[in-house]
Amino acid sequence: LFISFEGVDGAGKTTQAQRAHDFLQTKGMRSLVTREPGGTPAGLAIRELVLHGMAAFPSIAVTGGTDVVDASDDLNARTEALLYAADRAEHVAQVIEPALERGDIVLCDRYSDSSIAYQSGGRKLDQGEVSELSRWAAQGLKPARTYLLDVDPLQSHDRVNDEPDRMEAEGDDFQSQVRDAFLLLAQQEPERFVIVDASRPIEEVWQTIQADLETLTAD
Ligand code: C5P
Ligand code: MG
Repeated sequence: LFISFEGVDGAGKTTQAQRAHDFLQTKGMRSLVTREPGGTPAGLAIRELVLHGMAAFPSIAVTGGTDVVDASDDLNARTEALLYAADRAEHVAQVIEPALERGDIVLCDRYSDSSIAYQSGGRKLDQGEVSELSRWAAQGLKPARTYLLDVDPLQSHDRVNDEPDRMEAEGDDFQSQVRDAFLLLAQQEPERFVIVDASRPIEEVWQTIQADLETLTAD
């Protein structure tokens, strides 16, 4: 069983995925929490590059013809999309598929819907192309269930404790476009998505997810 947690920054994906993991453990089920970007060793390097640009690699000297590009420049949107896809290819092949093979329940903090929401909804790349790139990278693997933790990014902003620099950089318009893109995806695939009102306290959000998880894992 493959489950993903999606939503804007600070929506509570990491917290709820961990709650789900703890819950499944107490029920004697085998589960694994993992995340994107950064669910593999190579993925962690990709995460550094995609979140901080070449500023993350001060030891790499930029010389010759490449010195027209400043190390602090943002990555091109397509480069960024390819890096998230590369992270996913590695993650699916090395972590997710083997875990599913073993019969584990995989709880993934962000997956393909984040690529569509951020790289298409946010960065305005073509949705069909981003979606196809993602499908290719993931060898067609899709979650059976996706919990969309939906909250106004202006509210969730306050909860972000890691990578705050990135949130500041993007601004409110970008974040609300990302939120809207997630909601549109959820409307398009209502059988896969459960939209969870994540503006509520952690415990209430968890109750909603737990109830669905109970039915999912009942048989
Ligand atoms: O969820 P997490 O904090 O690990 O995500 C790291 C950052 O990567 C977030 O700020 C998110 O906005 C960004 N991201 C993105 N495109 C994706 C996945 C994540 O811009 N496809
Ligand atoms: Mg998180």
